[in-house]
Amino acid sequence: MKGRRAVVLGGAGFVGSHLCERLLKEGASRVVSVDNLITGRAENVAHLVGRPEFQDVRHDITEGPIQVEGPVDVVFNLASPASPIDYAQLPIETLRVGSIGTENGLELAVEKGARFLQASTSEVYGDPTVHPQREDYWGNVNPVGPRSCYDESKRYAEALCVAYARMKGVPVRIVRIFNTYGPRMRLNDGRVVPAFVSQALRGEDFTVFGDGMQTRSFCYVTDLVDGIYRLALSDVEGPVNVGNPREMTMLEFAEAVRAAAGGGGRIDFKPLPKDDPRQRRPDISRARELLGWEPRVPLEQGLRETIHYFRTLAGPTRTP
Ligand code: NAD
Ligand code: UDP
Repeated sequence: MKGRRAVVLGGAGFVGSHLCERLLKEGASRVVSVDNLITGRAENVAHLVGRPEFQDVRHDITEGPIQVEGPVDVVFNLASPASPIDYAQLPIETLRVGSIGTENGLELAVEKGARFLQASTSEVYGDPTVHPQREDYWGNVNPVGPRSCYDESKRYAEALCVAYARMKGVPVRIVRIFNTYGPRMRLNDGRVVPAFVSQALRGEDFTVFGDGMQTRSFCYVTDLVDGIYRLALSDVEGPVNVGNPREMTMLEFAEAVRAAAGGGGRIDFKPLPKDDPRQRRPDISRARELLGWEPRVPLEQGLRETIHYFRTLAGPTRTP
């Protein structure tokens, strides 16, 4: 990225802010974060504001064309509510940002002759009947369920990317992100990592949904950003899973958080939300072979960093 110019849609979010940091670290000459703060926070990039290469823009990318002065080499589209609680509260905004917002982002790439990286999700696989999930699995999504606003907007966004690649020649890259955690997640965003960590730090019971036997695979944020970065600079066409294949049940995860935080209460079973996927683990063969990428940060280390962040909620964060 040395000397290159990037736009990060959703740059003030959890993942977006880490990506902005990485791009600057790699020598990007300009990084423009465009965000309406609907689920992000200005504090996430406050430590970058003031650097001459960085620009922090407030704009809703569903509201008309995205205006950026000067040349742009890469547009990263990370804008979208991402936590199940967020998108349940913002279903229309979520559908609009995945559809109209992505189209506006792609038009920016056309205008600038830039490449376009779309942040997609393991949710395109829905409640998967194939395990682990490979990129050629088409998924099992309820189109009218509580998660459909998110799943279908991301599926539509992938289709839009492919159409822009075919019809307008935009070099598009699609990353399918699996559950990611780390500093700058919002403590109250409802996702299981901040939920369990905050419960452990307060000595409260862990709210485990359902029987706790559903599985997820958690990737530390710097590993994810490394995968995104490599994919953006690669010539790889078609979607690529980026996630950590270490799979565990939510009961096992509660115990991992208890061990890392050194505290926490009992397990308090709560009803399982409708359509909550029973299992999720990425097959990362494509990322390994095509990008030479694999996760490096073990769960125990990533949890320590995340717990440290939530304990102090201090500004810029260390990365392992
Ligand atoms: P986040 O909510 O912290 O970040 C999303 C950012 O997009 C926020 O800053 C938000 O304000 C911004 N945004 C939303 N709508 C917008 C709009 N209309 N205009 C401008 N900005 C807008 O979520 P995150 O966890 O950082 O996720 C980032 C991306 O990665 C999302 O696209 C998400 O779907 C994808 N993803 C994340 C995970 C994960 O585990 N974190 C998993 C799969 C996919
Ligand atoms: N979950 C839980 N307790 C919580 C929050 C979530 O048991 O307080 C479960 C949730 O039902 C799901 C898993 O943890 O099975 C991961 O949930 P999250 O919202 O983090 O992400 P998802 O993978 O569902 O998008």
